[in-house]
Amino acid sequence: MDFFNKLRWRLQQLMQGRYGPDQLTRAQLWTGLAFYVLNLFLRWPILVYLSLGIYIWAVYRIFSRNRVARAKENQRFLEIWYKVKQKPAQYKLRMQNSKEYKYFHCPKCHTVLRTRRGGGKRTITCPKCGNQFEKKS
Ligand SMILES: [Zn+2]
Repeated sequence: MDFFNKLRWRLQQLMQGRYGPDQLTRAQLWTGLAFYVLNLFLRWPILVYLSLGIYIWAVYRIFSRNRVARAKENQRFLEIWYKVKQKPAQYKLRMQNSKEYKYFHCPKCHTVLRTRRGGGKRTITCPKCGNQFEKKS
């Protein structure tokens, strides 16, 4: 075996049964880098510690043997990230439809609801939590 094959074999042995990198790892590395670069301009020592902390956390996750817990973390991260990514698109859609629809939040569960404009006051039933309330449309 030449040197590189030996190295690859060693690495495979090391990673056996460990979680490895995922989307959250990639986000951690970029966030850590962003904090570090920001520190170059702002000179806030806290940013270096944050960056270091994020990198230690990322390494811990990669080498973790608790794959179920790590996969769950990644799943939660992806859910949150998806919501964040959707926000601008949702906002744009609301702006486009604002003449036809009125948008508001359910006072109980804060779900975004919409109703056709015009027609005065009406009783609205939230489809998510069943809460009923009056709203001017
Ligand atoms: Zn509701």
